[in-house]
Amino acid sequence: MIRIYNTMSRQIEEFHPIEEGKVRIYVCGPTVYNLIHIGNARPMIFFDTVRNYLTYRGYEVRYVSNFTDVDDKIIRAAFDEKKESSEISERYIAECKKDMEALGVRPADVHPKATEEIDGMIGMIDTLIKKEHAYPAMDGTVYFRSRSFAGYGKLSHKNLDDLRSGERALKVDGAEQKEDALDFVLWKPKKEGEPSWPSPWCDGRPGWHIECSVMSRKYLGAEIDIHGGGEDLIFPHHENEIAQSESCSGGVFAHYWMHNAFLNIDHKKMSKSLGNFFTVRDILEKYDGQVLRFFMLGAHYRSPLNFSDELMESAKTSLERIINCKTNLSYLLTHATGEALTEEETASLQKAGEYRKAFEAAMDDDFNTADAISAIFELVRLANATTREDASLPYLGALRNELTELSGVLGLTLLPLVREDAHTPEDDAWIEEQIVARTAAKKAKDFAKADAIRDALKEKGILIEDTREGVRWKRI
Ligand code: AMP
Ligand code: ZN
Repeated sequence: MIRIYNTMSRQIEEFHPIEEGKVRIYVCGPTVYNLIHIGNARPMIFFDTVRNYLTYRGYEVRYVSNFTDVDDKIIRAAFDEKKESSEISERYIAECKKDMEALGVRPADVHPKATEEIDGMIGMIDTLIKKEHAYPAMDGTVYFRSRSFAGYGKLSHKNLDDLRSGERALKVDGAEQKEDALDFVLWKPKKEGEPSWPSPWCDGRPGWHIECSVMSRKYLGAEIDIHGGGEDLIFPHHENEIAQSESCSGGVFAHYWMHNAFLNIDHKKMSKSLGNFFTVRDILEKYDGQVLRFFMLGAHYRSPLNFSDELMESAKTSLERIINCKTNLSYLLTHATGEALTEEETASLQKAGEYRKAFEAAMDDDFNTADAISAIFELVRLANATTREDASLPYLGALRNELTELSGVLGLTLLPLVREDAHTPEDDAWIEEQIVARTAAKKAKDFAKADAIRDALKEKGILIEDTREGVRWKRI
């Protein structure tokens, strides 16, 4: 049974999806005006892992994550570069997708963009006005009437009268037209040079919060299982999403609210505005994407995580231990001959099964990836202690399968790390030597040896191709 900490109840709850065997997840995605930083990567990596684990547990998962492509920051970036807003957002959506791929984050089932969902937003705003949960002001700005929604404040556990309306909502012209300081913007009038769309109230653009309510309903239905994002989104963003969605539907919006803690640097939140950030791209120059992913999953998602070079180095060393273990198993597999498990091996596989159970118990316990990684290390220790040259094929195969499957749930491919020194001439010389040895083995009709050399190279990410011009190789 999976248990999840629900920000709404502030408790660990048993997970029961709305529809048996199916899970619908919505995760708030980035505002695309720049390369994403590694703080933004934390929710991406974590919720991707949640999705993998739910799939591993047999659920059919539908996962939606948006790109906010209309926003003050995008407009400013466009102004600075003398470009259209859409050019900026399209560029950074493409860059973000590259980063996600490098981090092993699979694309969502749908990645809606705010600018492509304007009609739906106008429709929802219209419904909210009709239900008297929203009102247009003189200049065409439409506000949500926060006090009209009885549950306002329930997610952030804030008392209505203590609440200050969120920063993003306050920073609009005409804020004095609000009936109440708590009211937030659903639609705002256009300004010169900004992207805008016609609406019944004025030419303008949506406020930030409405897009997620609309996209979530459109792609997942009015009631969803899990809604996720970083903890900075609890208020006002998610509080406002709930107010909009529930005022519209009359039912529950999301059953489980999950929020990751911050990625910090010197114990301060990493953010663009503080300037204390590294982009994912910066890190990928030095490390394979798997290392960053492994580093992120080394802490529980609700614990703040401090970024440092030392911790990244130690993540790299730990991950290499797992990869080396897999490489070694693959190597042994290329010349194992024993067809049957020995008694000793059978007992070892039983132990391996226990480690899989420990992995599952950790992940069931509110996605405790840190403990799940410890279970993988138990498996590595077992493999290192029990595999010898004469180990049987089924034993080696089963261990390798355990290792790759559990690591795969965490999104780790265990492919050899792309290293800074991967292209040194020494390395290339070694590869050439292997190729010469393989060719010699083939000449001597020792095809088993030739294949073993080829496979061992492949495990290191080097692919050999026999062509008419001779043997070629490339790194994959
Ligand atoms: P933004 O582009 O600022 O809307 O953020 C996109 C996602 O990244 C949201 O879920 C944020 O909560 C999350 N996020 C931003 N900064 C951090 C950070 N330093 N640590 C963890 N999550 C963050
Ligand atoms: Zn959102």
